[in-house]
Amino acid sequence: EAGKPVINVLSVSLMHYLKSFYNLTDVTDETTAVRREAIQLTEKMKEMQKFFGFKVTGKLDKETMEMMKKPRCGVPDVAAYSTFEGKPKWQTNKLTYRILNYTPDMSVAEVDTSMEKALQVWAKVTPLKFTRIYSGTADIMISFGTRYHGDAYPFDGPQGTLAHAFAPSLAIGGDAHFDDDEFFTFRSSKGFVLFLVAAHEFGHSLGLSHSNVRGALMFPTYSFTDPNHFSLPSDDIRGIQSLYGKRPNRDRTPIQPDPEVPTTPNACDPNLILDAVTTLRGETMFFKDSFFWRRSPSRSVTQLPIKRFWLNAPNNIDAAYEDPVQDKLFFFKGRQVWAFNGINLVPGYPKTLSSFGLPSSVRKVSAAVHVKSSGKTLLFIDKVYYSYDARAKKMDRRYPQRVESGFSEMTGAVTAAHISNGYIYLYSGTNVYEFGLYSKKYLRELKNNFFLPC
Ligand SMILES: [Zn+2]
Ligand SMILES: [Zn+2]
Repeated sequence: EAGKPVINVLSVSLMHYLKSFYNLTDVTDETTAVRREAIQLTEKMKEMQKFFGFKVTGKLDKETMEMMKKPRCGVPDVAAYSTFEGKPKWQTNKLTYRILNYTPDMSVAEVDTSMEKALQVWAKVTPLKFTRIYSGTADIMISFGTRYHGDAYPFDGPQGTLAHAFAPSLAIGGDAHFDDDEFFTFRSSKGFVLFLVAAHEFGHSLGLSHSNVRGALMFPTYSFTDPNHFSLPSDDIRGIQSLYGKRPNRDRTPIQPDPEVPTTPNACDPNLILDAVTTLRGETMFFKDSFFWRRSPSRSVTQLPIKRFWLNAPNNIDAAYEDPVQDKLFFFKGRQVWAFNGINLVPGYPKTLSSFGLPSSVRKVSAAVHVKSSGKTLLFIDKVYYSYDARAKKMDRRYPQRVESGFSEMTGAVTAAHISNGYIYLYSGTNVYEFGLYSKKYLRELKNNFFLPC
């Protein structure tokens, strides 16, 4: 006799997740219900894994389980930056909003400021203008509620779903609801920053669905960023401009640079000097100031703040490299080194440079690259370099050597380094020098933005 399926807490929460965000439906026909439910469950799990860019197994592996536990938005997931079915959008650029009630977690002024700032995130890159009204029906009605709060999508208590919003349409369309069983904050990493949650929800209010680009504002899970250092990622800009177009030049008032807000590095700057370059799980990351560009194997490039990906990483790093065997990413700044596994800081880090066997006279590493085939990590300190044996965990003898003795023609200080498709790229000032990885033969000179869109 076929036993009853084991329904434990985990599979209940998995089914709830897939029902909420991947349109998993209840199977009512009793005779084949268990088998069909299992097939559908596997298919929906594959959909979820595909959305998040995980290995598509249809099985509940660790990565999938971790993602399920993350606090997130209540709107279902679709694909890359995307709009809702039928591409609903507002037919006017002048929209109104109204704040119906307040959370007890924050002051009224803090809630008002958070909402205003969150709408400005979108207004800055489109022709949209938002006006607050205090009575009557606004396009975007903003409210806090718990559990059943007047629509068909009850909230779930603390954690889990943080908020949801409705795509543009009449009546409930555009409205944004916040789960007041969460603790909302103005800018603290403890609790959920209302500005960040609201900016995401207003993306829905304006017609954007979820993006599967990690780091995009419209990615479904919450991640903390200091609101003062927030800048709208390019995936979201492309998304919203596909609906409303760009902000017309004529009403762009000159904006005084705010010393608090770092300016976004420009890939087209002919004087661009990158801080560091590394591969990461098949992508290439280019670091500059507090930002990085990530370039996928399909060559699409997104620019993001470093802290949006690695909360514990420093800005303005000196060097970075990936050790794919250990699946670790290393960042260097000053005499310190950080190791990350994915986005998570490896326990015990940051460590000092002496953990690599570098002499205490070394004040900073200017570039680093790991050669997988030999298991060696090359650590550049301006015009010399060391070779660290990652497997034996010790520095190779006969080092440091002059960079020029290993890579002929390379006379300048090395500022960044990475390997791509059998070539090693050594950056020096605004130039990049391409060498054969094994032949060490000098091939050509490029500019720092060679791999970046400009
Ligand atoms: Zn959402
Ligand atoms: Zn609601």
